[in-house]
Amino acid sequence: MGGLFGIVGGGNCVQTLFYGTDYHSHLGTEHGGMAVYGEKGFYNTIHGISQAQFKSRFVEDYKKMDGCYGIGSISDDSPQPLIFRSKFGLYAVVATGLITNKNELIAELLNEGASFTEVAGGGVNNSEIVASLINRGDNIVEGIASMRGIIEGSICVLVLTPEGIYAARDKFGRFPLALGQSRDPRKKSFVVATEASSFENLGYQLDRFLGPGEIVLLSSDGIRQMKPEGAEKKICSFLWIYTGYPSSVYDGISVERTRERCGGLLAKRDNIQADFVAGVPDSGVGHAIGYAMASGIPYRRPLVKYTPGYGRSYTPPTQDIRDLVATMKLSAVHDVIYGNRMIICDDSIVRGTQLKNYTIKKLWDNGAKEIHIRPACPPLMFPCIYASSTRSVSELACRKAILALEGKDLIDPGPYLDPDSKDHARMIEWIRKDLNVTSLKFMRIEDMIDAITLPADQLCLYCWQGR
Ligand code: SF4
Repeated sequence: MGGLFGIVGGGNCVQTLFYGTDYHSHLGTEHGGMAVYGEKGFYNTIHGISQAQFKSRFVEDYKKMDGCYGIGSISDDSPQPLIFRSKFGLYAVVATGLITNKNELIAELLNEGASFTEVAGGGVNNSEIVASLINRGDNIVEGIASMRGIIEGSICVLVLTPEGIYAARDKFGRFPLALGQSRDPRKKSFVVATEASSFENLGYQLDRFLGPGEIVLLSSDGIRQMKPEGAEKKICSFLWIYTGYPSSVYDGISVERTRERCGGLLAKRDNIQADFVAGVPDSGVGHAIGYAMASGIPYRRPLVKYTPGYGRSYTPPTQDIRDLVATMKLSAVHDVIYGNRMIICDDSIVRGTQLKNYTIKKLWDNGAKEIHIRPACPPLMFPCIYASSTRSVSELACRKAILALEGKDLIDPGPYLDPDSKDHARMIEWIRKDLNVTSLKFMRIEDMIDAITLPADQLCLYCWQGR
């Protein structure tokens, strides 16, 4: 999905930019970057972070940087921020999201005479497409607004200019952008970020969230609205279930509290007799705590993560090594597992392979008596089309089940979507057997919506409904 951070004012902003960007490391594994503007003009630095954490890659750079305005990003698809010389003057851009009509746009822009840097492995950097479309406008604000109308998918963008940072949330508010200001009122410093949780330790307080499609300009004078929010919102539900950081808040709704509510609603529909509840570390933990609080069944830790030496952003180069790292990272606590019946909450089941091969296998190998799996969202039926996603339809556990049951995948898995249908029950039973667990029960979509607490028509539910 990627994450953005921007800061204006308060003197040299580089240290805050460095840590603020780093606080988005859980949102991407491939590229990190920062750009600043100050007395010496623009400066940017970009590194791959697939083999080393953001902090270790940038620690030397940031000590040399100097600027009063800065933007940074963590992303999976494009190295950025890039600096452009345009009819609006110099500016730097970071953008997160997905452009699904990228090929059509590239062809159209090339036809108009645009040219793009060739990136390793072919393709065009998303920031270059975004900048080319912004440059079509009469000014940066109009350029951003029209760019968002042309792009299919979803793009949040920060544009660093000498007058400040233009921050624009995607048209339907699919992904968040939070605004904050320094807790020291004399400092006149303002921040914008995907993760509002990045503010507190940096000395900033959350002011508000940008509305869908809203554009603001952050400068040392404050935050000025340049384009009001649109009427329609479709914020990503998966932010609360899995992607977001537990301490974060999106559109005013806490991630951790939502996960607790999910667990509570899972417990409400359950009557399993178990010795304890546990979460698959880390993103299943909040759901499991909620389950334990609602059911009165104690929370215990049969599995713990060994994180020293394994950065969150470390992406091993081959599947073999990825599997090895996955199994090494998770340690079983034999004395907690042995002879016990356990309810294991996870955020979701995507492919199901890691859950099956590492988590469940370790529990059986250590003498578990019963394993009851409770994912905190309904079965995932469609890969995301609004943020970079490595999944394909055929990789999803549910689609594998449908393929096995039907002998072919269904373009419209309609009957399988209804949690009260026989087809749905057959699909869940197939996954249960494949995972090799005692029972499997998914969250119902109406419960997930209740847990998030926003009206259903303000949520993106594409992963589950395909619309
Ligand atoms: S498709 Fe799924 S992951 Fe993508 S924005 Fe919608 S809810 Fe979020």
